[in-house]
Amino acid sequence: MSGGYMGRILRADLGSHLLSVERLPEPEVLRGLVGGTGPGLYYLRQSPLEGGSPTGAELPLVLMTGPLTGTLAPSSSDYTVLCYSLEAPTAAAVAHSHGFWGPYLKSAGFDGIVVQGRGNGPVYLVVDNGRIEIRGADHLWGLDTRETERLIKSELGGDPEKTSVACIGPGGEAMLPGGMIKNDRNHGAGRGSPGAVMGAKNLKAIAVRGSKTVPIANPIAFQAAVARWEKEMGEGRRPAGSGKARAVDYSRSCSGWRVTPRPSYNCRIECAYDVDITEGPFAGFTTSIKGGADNLEGAAEMVGIRDSGEALALGDFYDAMGLDSRVVGGVIAAAFESYEEGRITEEETGGLVLTLGNYAAVMELVRQVRVGGGFGRVLASQLSQTARNDAEGVGRVAEPREPEVSRDRQRRMWNDCTGACWFAEVSVETVSRAVGAAVGWDDFGGDEALQVGARVIAALRSTLPEKGTTVISDTKASPSSSAAPSA
Ligand code: SF4
Repeated sequence: MSGGYMGRILRADLGSHLLSVERLPEPEVLRGLVGGTGPGLYYLRQSPLEGGSPTGAELPLVLMTGPLTGTLAPSSSDYTVLCYSLEAPTAAAVAHSHGFWGPYLKSAGFDGIVVQGRGNGPVYLVVDNGRIEIRGADHLWGLDTRETERLIKSELGGDPEKTSVACIGPGGEAMLPGGMIKNDRNHGAGRGSPGAVMGAKNLKAIAVRGSKTVPIANPIAFQAAVARWEKEMGEGRRPAGSGKARAVDYSRSCSGWRVTPRPSYNCRIECAYDVDITEGPFAGFTTSIKGGADNLEGAAEMVGIRDSGEALALGDFYDAMGLDSRVVGGVIAAAFESYEEGRITEEETGGLVLTLGNYAAVMELVRQVRVGGGFGRVLASQLSQTARNDAEGVGRVAEPREPEVSRDRQRRMWNDCTGACWFAEVSVETVSRAVGAAVGWDDFGGDEALQVGARVIAALRSTLPEKGTTVISDTKASPSSSAAPSA
């Protein structure tokens, strides 16, 4: 192995302020797991949950890149966040984000960060080439994600475009289900509430920047694989984005507004963008968005918002609070429905009028949920109950386990391990050739790539492993998943 990886992991213990640098796992383990979710599980499993809380100080928050992150491969921006899930504590939570944070972490010389312990007070971590620092963050605690990014970049100085900040907002600080980690304004990791785990560590942000380049073991083969990849993307081998239709078409009324693409590192798909709202109550406001309408217009649609500007501003508000609009928005939408059907009254909502379309009431409820005040206290408890119900649901679906893992799931998981965005995935063979050429695995191909996907799925299913079980040894206990997949 001579490329693709920077070869180093940063382990930061916020309780003792101990910072240590470790080498990546040995080459054969790495080839079995590749990157992102695979090695992320390897590090998560080093600290078993053992009946504790996912927000326990001793449990890790892992941020992991893949071998393509930060390379010239298309949309090579992916980083994965892993922790024990707030929604389903017996399961590992795996979330992805894009933007620039992953590539900049690699340019600082690291493939991943394992955060453990809890700061005595709010802190933030700076990884600036070889310089690593834990700084006080009292002045940042309580700020939204937009302002946190801006202030940290200003404190660090230099070109703000060359620094990336992953941070939590008030939602993560309050350790709410749905707490997200946001980075580079338009991007964020939400599945499993990693922002709440980060908040439990009193960790407000991690800022990264550097000047190193990712080594490529076989540049000629890598360039050939990337050229083929780009050609296949140009041929439209796979459409980008979810393309889901919504009941309310928000795009028609805002078609004249200025849209500025905000693509992630080395991405031509450009599903992230800013919109300058020019009409309605939010005229003059610029909202930052990423593709995938479910987490944006979905939350607005559920509470009856029809105005495009209000929908976009509401989505931006959830992002600024560092809250997943699908999780918190669902509970708020249920409250709106109860109000509309007369099951709750203004007396119970503390005077809030939850008629459909009242975006101001949604924003006030989010604020109340966060501080645990007013009717928000009731909703916060429902949010936790929903998380517990989801946890029971996960336990039920986990048994009995599926005898077979479909090729599509293996393919999807394989892609989650590479460091490239799923939206840019074209074919298993092409992406696996790019990974092989980057790392120096000359005989790495599609079949082995799918085996990696199957192996990581098997490891994910093995919740609450016995102490000492490794991710690799899990595959031996799951022959159906680790067997060579059918083409
Ligand atoms: S497709 Fe979207 S999420 Fe993926 S890398 Fe490009 S801008 Fe980022």
